[in-house]
Amino acid sequence: MKYLIETFGCRTNQADSDAIASKLLSKGHSPACKEETADICVINTCTVTAKADTQCRNMIRKLRRDYPKAKIVVTGCFAAVAENQSKKIAGMENDENLVFERRPETNFSFFTAPVTRARPNLKIQDGCDRFCAYCIVPYARGRSRSMPVKDVLEQLDLMHKAGIAEIVLTGIHLGGYGLDLKPETTLLGLLKKITPSPSPLPRGEKVDTDHCFRIRLSSIDPDEWSDELIDFAARNKMIARHFHIPLQSGDDEILQKMGRRYTTERYFRLLSDIKSKAPDCAIGADVIVGFPGETREHFERTRQFIEKTPIDYLHVFPYSRRSQTASAKLEDTVSKAEKHRRASVLRAISAKKRAEFYKKMAGKKIDVVIEVNRDKKTGRLKGISGNYIPVLLDGDDGLLGRMVNVTLAEENICI
Ligand code: SF4
Repeated sequence: MKYLIETFGCRTNQADSDAIASKLLSKGHSPACKEETADICVINTCTVTAKADTQCRNMIRKLRRDYPKAKIVVTGCFAAVAENQSKKIAGMENDENLVFERRPETNFSFFTAPVTRARPNLKIQDGCDRFCAYCIVPYARGRSRSMPVKDVLEQLDLMHKAGIAEIVLTGIHLGGYGLDLKPETTLLGLLKKITPSPSPLPRGEKVDTDHCFRIRLSSIDPDEWSDELIDFAARNKMIARHFHIPLQSGDDEILQKMGRRYTTERYFRLLSDIKSKAPDCAIGADVIVGFPGETREHFERTRQFIEKTPIDYLHVFPYSRRSQTASAKLEDTVSKAEKHRRASVLRAISAKKRAEFYKKMAGKKIDVVIEVNRDKKTGRLKGISGNYIPVLLDGDDGLLGRMVNVTLAEENICI
């Protein structure tokens, strides 16, 4: 049978879709090419915002229009949230070929050749025990659980032997890795097993790119960065100099209401510390605007905090009320228009900071992992540096999927 998979949401969902594809392949099914009719359509959904819900519903309807006879399987977070299972998709109430399926509890992704991405995700953790006031994820993905250390090392070895230049360690709550394992361990404990203890690089020496691959870490919460983890990540040449550290708000009162476990003072000290040890690293942050009760004064403090903090780019989300969450009981006090005004203010700051970071890196040597496919628009090689700079380069197909060391020129930066 021919199948297609539509994926919404985060890197962890991408990893889940890779696992679904490997399973379908192992059962003898094959991916439908563009003009082919799919017999099975899998939609791996997201429910982190109301907007994500709408996008998933629209995709379900579109798949039915495009493939009238296909079996449509709705899985992922939208499907996992109880209330959605009972709700029919408007216009498809009697569709017997539409099924909702919860994803299996322990569905860690295991690498299967062929290599389809230069920077594949390896999902090593799932679920979350934190229940931040606005977040639906613990209800959709369950309690935190980790892939056993032995399996992680085996997978990394397989992927390295397959010639993969970068692997993204991903999870819903990566900072909680290993706390559920027997014997218990931590993300740092795992990293020490993956990469030998880092020896400081003599000033100016470049990374030997031929024999190693790099690890990129997905999002880690601020309170999960120990001084030892900072040191280890900042000095280890195998760890990409790119850290995503959710902020959510730059106001302590709002952080407390959100149930976040740090203060702005701690956050500022953390980022300053990381930047002092890895000056060329890129730091990204998530921010929610318009959380219930966020006044203009709260928002102004957030704006000022972000301006002064060494963040290089932002992912900005207007607050979206999610049922079952603690904040769903709070009055949604900020209007849609005001949420969008606040979001555009922060996105403008993010664009300015990102441009400043790229300018600072121009003329420096960077290690770029080249994607396995050329850029559709320009036909050039496209890649991303360890510190998250997207670039377009000229070169032959032999470089596809490889890591190369280049001097960054501003005209190579892919804005
Ligand atoms: S840490 Fe908070 S925001 Fe992140 S997944 Fe868990 S509950 Fe959601």
